[in-house]
This record gives sequence, C-alpha cells and structure tokens, in this order.
Amino acid sequence: MAVATPPYASDALAEGTVDAVVIGGGAAGLNGALILARSRRSVVVIDSGSPRNAPAEAVHGFIVLDGTPPSEILRRGREQARQYGGRVVFGEVVSAQSAAPSADGDLRFTVTLADGRSITARRILVATGLTDVLPEVPGLAEHWGHSVVHCPYCHGWEVRDEPIGILATGAASIGHAFLFRQLTEDLTYFTHGTDLDEDSRA
Ligand SMILES: Cc1cc2nc3c(=O)[nH]c(=O)nc-3n(C[C@H](O)[C@H](O)[C@H](O)COP(=O)(O)OP(=O)(O)OC[C@H]3O[C@@H](n4cnc5c(N)ncnc54)[C@H](O)[C@@H]3O)c2cc1C
Repeated sequence: MAVATPPYASDALAEGTVDAVVIGGGAAGLNGALILARSRRSVVVIDSGSPRNAPAEAVHGFIVLDGTPPSEILRRGREQARQYGGRVVFGEVVSAQSAAPSADGDLRFTVTLADGRSITARRILVATGLTDVLPEVPGLAEHWGHSVVHCPYCHGWEVRDEPIGILATGAASIGHAFLFRQLTEDLTYFTHGTDLDEDSRA
C-alpha cells in the first residue's frame, strides 16, 4: 500500500515501550485508542489514512453524527484520543513481530513502519479494516461511494425514488434487491451471470 501525503498532522512516534500500538486509525482503531487512553494506557495509533468510506460524502445511520463527512468524524476521533494522551502517527505498518519478553515474561512486539521506523509495544490492536473488491465493470470504480453504492442503510435514503440497478455478484445479491426495493418502485436486477430462481424473480 502506498502511503500518500499525510491527510492530517502526525504525532511523533513514542520512545521506549508503549502499552498498545493500534494499527489502523479508522473508526474502530480510534475508538479502541480512546478506550485504552482513558484507561491510562500509553497508546500509539499508526494509520495510513485510507479509511474504507473515504469516497462517501457523509456517514449515515449513525445517531448524533448522521450526515457528517467521514473525514470530520475521524478528525474528531483523533482529537479525542489525543485529549487523553494517545498519539496518532501517520504511516504504514509493514510488520509486527514478537520481540524478547520483559524480565518478568510479559510479551513484547516490534512494530515496523514502511519508512523504517519502529516502536515496541506490550500489546497490538489490529484495526486495519477491509478493502472493497469492486466488480470489473468499466466506469464503476469512478462512481463508487456516490452513484454506485453498496448499503441501503448508509445510502439508500439518498437514492430513494430513483431508478436503481442491482448488479448481482452472487446468489445472495437478491437480498440487496429486496432491501433496495423498499426505496424505489423502479428497480432492475442485473443477474450478471448469476442464477435467479423463479420465486425471487416473481
Ligand atoms: C462507500 C462507503 C460508504 C459507507 N458509508 C457508511 C455509512 O454511511 N454508515 C456506516 O455506518 N458505515 C458506512 N460504511 C462502512 C464504514 O466505512 C466501515 O464500517 C468503517 O469504515 C469501518 O471502520 P474500520 O476502522 O474498521 O476500517 P476503516 O475505516 O477502513 O479504517 C482502517 C484504517 O486502517 C488503515 N490501515 C490499513 N492497513 C494499515 C497498515 N498496514 N498500517 C497502518 N494503517 C493501516 C487504513 O488506512 C484506514 O485508515 C461505508 C463504507 C463504504 C465503502
């Protein structure tokens, strides 16, 4: 994974051994860091700055923050983790390996970043998210997160009453058709080489 220009100000990597390194500074990693920091653990989040929902204009279906841009939620998350002493470092982790334990036998890990820096931690929290693998349809990727959406709860309201096409990627895709059907009268199911039984078609 290529690390781009920092999308936010990065803290310095801590010296010595920290209680926890959190790999990934999306919603999951920052929430983990917040809890750890509030428990008075020394915590360093290392984040390469590519959250899954980056293409989306706003996060929906999340009370209090419904309609907030993903970048704003993460900005506030970093601010809150930092408020309790957590650090957020922009970088990509390339390895996390067992290191020699402490004198009393407690675990130690060495976490190494792509730029060669490393940090020692007592524990590691992996919160690297997942990567969406999009169907190979020309033009589809450019519209991902805008007019190509995957989740009726995240984006369904925004596309309500519009003509909606469901692009099947497997047998379970029909479930998406039923969910989006609630949002529009004008729905087309593209089987895209998958089977569709008579009941579902009806
Ligand atoms: C287009 C789109 C829109 C969405 N909209 C909504 C919505 O409206 N409402 C909703 O509830 N959910 C929505 N989701 C789902 C939501 O994005 C995910 O549930 C959420 O992002 C998961 O958070 P996460 O922290 O697990 O992972 P991510 O947000 O993906 O964060 C993982 C972080 O880890 C970092 N990382 C990965 N590998 C490394 C490494 N080796 N070293 C350092 N850092 C690393 C990444 O750069 C990234 O910053 C949407 C998803 C998509 C794709």
